[in-house]
Amino acid sequence: EFQGISRCHLKIILDEQQEKAFVEDTGSKNGTFLNNKKIGDRELLNKGDIIKVGSMAFKYIPAGDPERVAYDKLNLEANTDLHTGCFNKSYFNNKSELEVKKSKVTGSPLSLILFDLDHFKNLNDNFGHDAGDYVLKEMATVVRNNGVREQDVFARYGGEEFVILLPNTNLKQSFEIAERLRKLIEIHQFLYESQRLPVTASIGVADYRRGVSSGTDLFKRADNAVYKSKENGRNQVQFYRE
Ligand code: GH3
Ligand code: MG
Ligand code: MG
Repeated sequence: EFQGISRCHLKIILDEQQEKAFVEDTGSKNGTFLNNKKIGDRELLNKGDIIKVGSMAFKYIPAGDPERVAYDKLNLEANTDLHTGCFNKSYFNNKSELEVKKSKVTGSPLSLILFDLDHFKNLNDNFGHDAGDYVLKEMATVVRNNGVREQDVFARYGGEEFVILLPNTNLKQSFEIAERLRKLIEIHQFLYESQRLPVTASIGVADYRRGVSSGTDLFKRADNAVYKSKENGRNQVQFYRE
Protein backbone atom coordinates (compact mmCIF):
# COMPACT_ATOMS: atom_id res chain seq x y z
CA GLU A 1 0.00 0.00 0.00
CA PHE A 2 1.66 3.21 -1.13
CA GLN A 3 -0.09 6.07 0.56
CA GLY A 4 1.05 8.73 -1.86
CA ILE A 5 3.68 10.05 0.51
CA SER A 6 6.92 9.08 -1.13
CA ARG A 7 7.04 8.93 -4.89
CA CYS A 8 6.98 5.44 -6.28
CA HIS A 9 8.07 4.25 -9.71
CA LEU A 10 6.53 0.85 -9.59
CA LYS A 11 3.09 -0.07 -10.77
CA ILE A 12 1.17 -3.32 -10.38
CA ILE A 13 -1.60 -3.77 -12.93
CA LEU A 14 -4.39 -6.34 -12.86
CA ASP A 15 -6.21 -7.54 -15.98
CA GLU A 16 -9.98 -7.09 -16.16
CA GLN A 17 -10.75 -10.52 -14.74
CA GLN A 18 -8.28 -9.74 -11.94
CA GLU A 19 -6.55 -13.02 -12.68
CA LYS A 20 -3.29 -11.84 -14.14
CA ALA A 21 -0.97 -9.28 -12.58
CA PHE A 22 1.73 -7.28 -14.32
CA VAL A 23 4.56 -5.16 -13.01
CA GLU A 24 5.57 -1.94 -14.72
CA ASP A 25 8.48 0.43 -14.16
CA THR A 26 7.18 3.98 -14.42
CA GLY A 27 10.53 5.75 -14.64
CA SER A 28 12.64 4.72 -11.68
CA LYS A 29 16.25 5.92 -11.65
CA ASN A 30 17.84 2.55 -10.97
CA GLY A 31 15.33 0.23 -12.54
CA THR A 32 12.92 -2.42 -11.34
CA PHE A 33 14.07 -6.03 -11.20
CA LEU A 34 12.02 -9.17 -11.64
CA ASN A 35 13.83 -12.24 -10.31
CA ASN A 36 17.02 -10.17 -10.52
CA LYS A 37 16.53 -9.25 -14.20
CA LYS A 38 15.91 -5.62 -15.05
CA ILE A 39 12.44 -5.34 -16.58
CA GLY A 40 11.59 -3.63 -19.82
CA ASP A 41 8.17 -2.07 -20.11
CA ARG A 42 5.66 -4.43 -18.54
CA GLU A 43 6.07 -8.00 -17.33
CA LEU A 44 3.60 -10.71 -16.36
CA LEU A 45 3.92 -11.90 -12.76
CA ASN A 46 3.99 -15.55 -11.75
CA LYS A 47 3.55 -16.97 -8.28
CA GLY A 48 6.72 -16.59 -6.20
CA ASP A 49 8.29 -13.91 -8.39
CA ILE A 50 10.51 -11.45 -6.53
CA ILE A 51 10.26 -7.79 -7.51
CA LYS A 52 13.07 -5.49 -6.38
CA VAL A 53 13.01 -1.73 -6.47
CA GLY A 54 15.43 0.49 -4.57
CA SER A 55 16.15 -1.12 -1.22
CA MET A 56 12.89 -3.10 -1.16
CA ALA A 57 11.92 -6.55 -2.36
CA PHE A 58 8.38 -7.87 -2.84
CA LYS A 59 7.23 -11.41 -3.35
CA TYR A 60 4.20 -11.97 -5.56
CA ILE A 61 1.66 -14.35 -4.07
CA PRO A 62 -1.70 -14.42 -5.92
CA ALA A 63 -4.96 -14.06 -3.97
CA GLY A 64 -6.39 -17.40 -2.85
CA ASP A 65 -2.98 -19.06 -2.78
CA PRO A 66 -2.58 -21.04 0.47
CA GLU A 67 0.60 -19.11 1.34
CA ARG A 68 -1.28 -15.84 0.84
CA VAL A 69 -4.24 -16.99 2.95
CA ALA A 70 -1.82 -17.82 5.77
CA TYR A 71 -0.20 -14.36 5.53
CA ASP A 72 -3.58 -12.60 5.53
CA LYS A 73 -4.65 -14.52 8.61
CA LEU A 74 -1.38 -13.78 10.45
CA ASN A 75 -1.69 -10.15 9.52
CA LEU A 76 -5.24 -9.92 10.80
CA GLU A 77 -4.37 -11.65 14.06
CA ALA A 78 -1.34 -9.43 14.62
CA ASN A 79 -3.48 -6.31 14.17
CA THR A 80 -6.55 -7.33 16.13
CA ASP A 81 -7.59 -7.40 19.76
CA LEU A 82 -9.12 -10.85 20.04
CA HIS A 83 -11.63 -10.08 22.79
CA THR A 84 -13.36 -7.13 21.12
CA GLY A 85 -12.49 -7.60 17.45
CA CYS A 86 -11.13 -4.04 17.39
CA PHE A 87 -7.75 -3.18 15.94
CA ASN A 88 -5.01 -3.24 18.56
CA LYS A 89 -2.74 -0.50 19.90
CA SER A 90 0.22 -1.21 17.63
CA TYR A 91 -1.95 -1.15 14.51
CA PHE A 92 -3.51 2.12 15.66
CA ASN A 93 -0.13 3.70 16.42
CA ASN A 94 1.20 2.88 12.96
CA LYS A 95 -1.94 4.10 11.29
CA SER A 96 -2.08 7.36 13.21
CA GLU A 97 1.56 8.22 12.40
CA LEU A 98 0.79 7.54 8.76
CA GLU A 99 -2.42 9.59 8.73
CA VAL A 100 -0.71 12.57 10.40
CA LYS A 101 1.99 12.45 7.70
CA LYS A 102 -0.71 12.34 5.06
CA SER A 103 -2.51 15.34 6.53
CA LYS A 104 0.78 17.26 6.62
CA VAL A 105 1.16 16.69 2.89
CA THR A 106 -2.43 17.07 1.74
CA GLY A 107 -3.86 19.39 4.41
CA SER A 108 -6.87 17.11 4.78
CA PRO A 109 -8.53 17.15 8.21
CA LEU A 110 -7.92 14.33 10.67
CA SER A 111 -9.53 13.72 14.06
CA LEU A 112 -9.03 11.43 16.99
CA ILE A 113 -11.70 10.36 19.46
CA LEU A 114 -10.40 8.74 22.66
CA PHE A 115 -12.73 7.26 25.22
CA ASP A 116 -12.29 5.68 28.59
CA LEU A 117 -15.07 3.83 30.43
CA ASP A 118 -16.08 5.41 33.72
CA HIS A 119 -15.47 3.74 37.07
CA PHE A 120 -14.75 0.47 35.37
CA LYS A 121 -12.89 -0.83 38.38
CA ASN A 122 -16.11 -0.44 40.41
CA LEU A 123 -18.05 -2.32 37.74
CA ASN A 124 -15.60 -5.23 38.00
CA ASP A 125 -15.73 -5.12 41.78
CA ASN A 126 -19.52 -4.99 41.95
CA PHE A 127 -20.51 -7.37 39.16
CA GLY A 128 -17.40 -9.47 38.55
CA HIS A 129 -14.62 -9.50 35.98
CA ASP A 130 -16.70 -11.53 33.50
CA ALA A 131 -19.36 -8.82 33.54
CA GLY A 132 -16.60 -6.32 32.77
CA ASP A 133 -15.38 -8.45 29.88
CA TYR A 134 -18.93 -8.67 28.53
CA VAL A 135 -19.27 -4.86 28.68
CA LEU A 136 -16.07 -4.35 26.67
CA LYS A 137 -17.20 -6.72 23.93
CA GLU A 138 -20.76 -5.41 23.79
CA MET A 139 -19.62 -1.78 23.79
CA ALA A 140 -17.24 -2.46 20.89
CA THR A 141 -20.11 -4.01 18.91
CA VAL A 142 -22.41 -1.07 19.63
CA VAL A 143 -19.78 1.44 18.50
CA ARG A 144 -18.83 -0.57 15.42
CA ASN A 145 -22.45 -0.83 14.29
CA ASN A 146 -23.18 2.84 14.74
CA GLY A 147 -21.21 5.05 12.50
CA VAL A 148 -17.64 3.82 12.38
CA ARG A 149 -16.98 4.20 8.67
CA GLU A 150 -14.84 2.09 6.38
CA GLN A 151 -11.98 4.60 6.50
CA ASP A 152 -12.05 5.01 10.31
CA VAL A 153 -9.77 3.02 12.58
CA PHE A 154 -11.52 1.79 15.71
CA ALA A 155 -8.99 0.31 18.11
CA ARG A 156 -8.65 -0.88 21.68
CA TYR A 157 -5.80 1.18 23.08
CA GLY A 158 -5.66 -0.44 26.51
CA GLY A 159 -7.88 -2.19 29.06
CA GLU A 160 -11.02 -0.01 28.94
CA GLU A 161 -9.64 2.67 26.65
CA PHE A 162 -10.62 2.90 22.98
CA VAL A 163 -9.77 5.19 20.07
CA ILE A 164 -11.32 6.09 16.76
CA LEU A 165 -9.10 7.72 14.17
CA LEU A 166 -11.16 9.64 11.62
CA PRO A 167 -9.52 10.75 8.37
CA ASN A 168 -11.19 13.60 6.43
CA THR A 169 -13.10 14.66 9.51
CA ASN A 170 -12.76 18.03 11.24
CA LEU A 171 -13.08 18.81 14.95
CA LYS A 172 -16.72 19.91 14.79
CA GLN A 173 -17.75 16.76 12.95
CA SER A 174 -15.79 14.44 15.23
CA PHE A 175 -17.17 16.18 18.31
CA GLU A 176 -20.69 15.45 17.05
CA ILE A 177 -19.80 11.82 16.34
CA ALA A 178 -18.29 11.51 19.83
CA GLU A 179 -21.38 12.97 21.45
CA ARG A 180 -23.60 10.56 19.51
CA LEU A 181 -21.47 7.62 20.67
CA ARG A 182 -21.48 8.86 24.26
CA LYS A 183 -25.30 8.94 24.28
CA LEU A 184 -25.49 5.56 22.60
CA ILE A 185 -23.31 3.98 25.29
CA GLU A 186 -25.30 5.72 28.03
CA ILE A 187 -28.69 4.46 26.83
CA HIS A 188 -27.62 1.01 25.69
CA GLN A 189 -28.92 -1.80 27.90
CA PHE A 190 -25.88 -3.74 29.00
CA LEU A 191 -27.57 -6.82 30.44
CA TYR A 192 -25.49 -9.42 32.23
CA GLU A 193 -27.12 -12.29 34.11
CA SER A 194 -30.34 -10.26 33.97
CA GLN A 195 -28.78 -7.25 35.64
CA ARG A 196 -28.53 -3.89 33.92
CA LEU A 197 -24.93 -2.68 34.20
CA PRO A 198 -24.15 1.03 34.50
CA VAL A 199 -21.86 1.98 31.61
CA THR A 200 -20.74 5.46 30.58
CA ALA A 201 -17.65 6.86 28.91
CA SER A 202 -15.56 10.00 29.21
CA ILE A 203 -14.48 11.16 25.79
CA GLY A 204 -11.78 13.44 24.45
CA VAL A 205 -11.50 14.77 20.91
CA ALA A 206 -8.58 16.42 19.12
CA ASP A 207 -7.71 17.15 15.53
CA TYR A 208 -4.68 17.65 13.34
CA ARG A 209 -3.63 21.31 13.33
CA ARG A 210 -0.71 23.61 14.10
CA GLY A 211 1.28 22.14 16.99
CA VAL A 212 0.54 18.54 16.01
CA SER A 213 3.51 16.99 14.28
CA SER A 214 3.03 13.30 15.02
CA GLY A 215 0.45 10.69 15.89
CA THR A 216 1.75 10.81 19.44
CA ASP A 217 1.02 14.55 19.63
CA LEU A 218 -2.53 13.95 18.46
CA PHE A 219 -3.00 11.20 21.04
CA LYS A 220 -1.64 13.40 23.86
CA ARG A 221 -4.17 16.09 23.01
CA ALA A 222 -7.11 13.67 22.98
CA ASP A 223 -5.86 12.16 26.25
CA ASN A 224 -5.70 15.62 27.76
CA ALA A 225 -9.32 16.16 26.73
CA VAL A 226 -10.38 12.84 28.32
CA TYR A 227 -8.77 14.01 31.53
CA LYS A 228 -10.90 17.15 31.39
CA SER A 229 -14.04 15.05 30.89
CA LYS A 230 -13.16 12.98 33.95
CA GLU A 231 -12.42 16.03 36.04
CA ASN A 232 -15.60 17.71 34.94
CA GLY A 233 -17.81 14.86 36.15
CA ARG A 234 -17.39 12.02 33.55
CA ASN A 235 -19.95 10.82 30.95
CA GLN A 236 -19.20 13.75 28.62
CA VAL A 237 -17.21 14.89 25.62
CA GLN A 238 -14.50 17.56 25.75
CA PHE A 239 -12.19 18.71 23.01
CA TYR A 240 -8.58 19.77 23.33
CA ARG A 241 -8.02 23.48 23.92
CA GLU A 242 -4.61 25.11 24.14
P1 GH3 B 1 -12.12 6.24 35.69
O1 GH3 B 1 -13.55 6.63 35.60
O2 GH3 B 1 -11.29 7.29 36.36
O3 GH3 B 1 -11.56 5.84 34.37
O4 GH3 B 1 -12.09 4.97 36.66
P2 GH3 B 1 -11.73 3.49 36.26
O5 GH3 B 1 -12.08 2.61 37.42
O6 GH3 B 1 -12.36 3.13 34.98
O7 GH3 B 1 -10.18 3.58 36.00
P3 GH3 B 1 -8.96 2.73 36.51
O8 GH3 B 1 -7.85 3.05 35.58
O9 GH3 B 1 -8.72 2.96 37.99
O10 GH3 B 1 -9.38 1.23 36.35
C1 GH3 B 1 -9.53 0.60 35.12
C2 GH3 B 1 -10.06 -0.77 35.38
O11 GH3 B 1 -10.32 -1.46 34.17
C3 GH3 B 1 -9.12 -1.60 36.19
C4 GH3 B 1 -9.02 -2.91 35.42
O12 GH3 B 1 -9.17 -3.99 36.25
C5 GH3 B 1 -10.16 -2.84 34.43
N1 GH3 B 1 -9.87 -3.56 33.20
C6 GH3 B 1 -8.86 -3.32 32.31
N2 GH3 B 1 -8.88 -4.23 31.31
C7 GH3 B 1 -9.91 -5.08 31.58
C8 GH3 B 1 -10.44 -6.21 30.92
O13 GH3 B 1 -9.98 -6.66 29.86
N3 GH3 B 1 -11.52 -6.83 31.50
C9 GH3 B 1 -12.08 -6.38 32.65
N4 GH3 B 1 -13.14 -7.01 33.13
N5 GH3 B 1 -11.60 -5.31 33.29
C10 GH3 B 1 -10.53 -4.65 32.77
MG1 MG C 1 -8.38 3.95 31.86
MG1 MG D 1 -11.75 4.16 33.16
